[in-house]
Amino acid sequence: MVMGDLVDEVDVAVVGGGPGGYSAAFRCAELGLETVVIDADKRLGGACLFEGCIPSKALLHVAAVLSDAARAREFGVDFGEPRISLDPLRKWKQERVVGKLARGLAGVAKAKKVEVIGGRGVFEDSTTLRVERGDVLRKIRFKHAIVATGSRPSGLPGVTIDSERVMDSTAALELPEIPERLLVIGGGYIGLEMGTVYAALGSRVTLVEMTDGLLPGVDRDLVQPLQRRVDKIFAAIHLGTKVAAIREVGSEIEADLEGRGTERFDRVLVAVGRRAQSGGLGLEATRARLTERGGFIQVDDRCRTDDPRIYAVGDVTGEPMLAHRAMRQGKVVAEVLAGRPAAFDNVAIPAVVFTDPEIAWCGLNEAQAESQGVEAKVSKFQWAASGRAATIGRSDGLTKLVADARSGRLIGVGIVGPGAGELIAEATLAVETAALVEDVAATIHAHPTLSETLMEAAENLLG
Ligand code: NAD
Repeated sequence: MVMGDLVDEVDVAVVGGGPGGYSAAFRCAELGLETVVIDADKRLGGACLFEGCIPSKALLHVAAVLSDAARAREFGVDFGEPRISLDPLRKWKQERVVGKLARGLAGVAKAKKVEVIGGRGVFEDSTTLRVERGDVLRKIRFKHAIVATGSRPSGLPGVTIDSERVMDSTAALELPEIPERLLVIGGGYIGLEMGTVYAALGSRVTLVEMTDGLLPGVDRDLVQPLQRRVDKIFAAIHLGTKVAAIREVGSEIEADLEGRGTERFDRVLVAVGRRAQSGGLGLEATRARLTERGGFIQVDDRCRTDDPRIYAVGDVTGEPMLAHRAMRQGKVVAEVLAGRPAAFDNVAIPAVVFTDPEIAWCGLNEAQAESQGVEAKVSKFQWAASGRAATIGRSDGLTKLVADARSGRLIGVGIVGPGAGELIAEATLAVETAALVEDVAATIHAHPTLSETLMEAAENLLG
């Protein structure tokens, strides 16, 4: 490695160019701080744009179009059997969706004078980062650094074998082919979203989940309609089952499903969670500390680590590992560094599973309210009674509200149904701003819309 002669001095050095990193960098620049972003990829977007949220949602859109076209037969419209051309589909996802957004981010960085440095950032101490890229080494001296290095897919011992037929979410998003038989390991966000994509494109999907239900931890009332749907579109769902081991046998993958014997597949997707990318950053040369479980960087409500010069945001700081949490944290850090009063003290972080139907929630669910000793009142509005749901042939949804019985405040909302991911925005605003159930009930909601289900559920709570 040769030493470059550049030693830059900046106000803020951000390590990692994903949603947390670029949100922090853009806001820092807007607030007058000289800011650079160091990213191994030398481009902004991170896992969210290049191997996560965005490409998966593009493919889920394709899945939705296919399933809407199939559903249209119910009202007498038959488009015939779809023909899928993988090359144009990959190109559309890569160029028109991901590429366009990546160019947009590069443009914003340029306009805000945020330099994006390609390379791996490694801390030498609490004021210096070394940027490693091939044999070039550049040093950055900073007043503050923000670590936003995100997460990566977890592997499974004995299962994550070295075979191109065994994919993580990144590989699955590349759409290498449409396998005839796909084994999905993990019934969480990724397993269900990517399983939906591959099932829509024509794969026979077998999903294996080790706990006794899909989406562990999510309200069962919300999961039920999704379970009914995936029961139809997946070839099989094995709950309470672990994959003990897999082997490559010729051009097939043989999997040992505990208690169910052996089955063969053409490809496997391992989606058993993500883990923090906090290693190899040289953090041991600083005062920042990691949590014992999960190796997350420990931060306080201002996203400060134990090192006064170093902050951290996003997946590397823990759950929930969601891009929008990272973005909010990034903006909070920028405000803090600019000397403004700010804290990451949001009450509600919405979560959306972009399946069909979508599941979305924010705040506390019924079980969480109970375990926190809150006297809760719950209301469930079935979409069977929604005019709008009937007009789109989707009466299978549900809107569920949880309120604090004593204060009358809305403390949690769960929605399952098409568009739940958009509908949750109103609910999040209501929970975040401590709206009363009465406020939601008395707010005029346009008719006929699915948003009325929130108003109706609130009216039910008032009795
Ligand atoms: P996840 O935590 O959502 O689900 C992993 C699932 O795998 C769990 O249900 C778990 O019980 C199961 N599992 C673990 N070990 C297993 C084993 N040996 N055999 C069978 N099942 C096993 O994780 P994910 O789906 O990999 O997603 C990772 C994270 O990425 C999510 O937690 C989320 O934060 C984020 N993500 C979010 C979105 C979104 O916002 N829509 C989409 C994708 C991913």
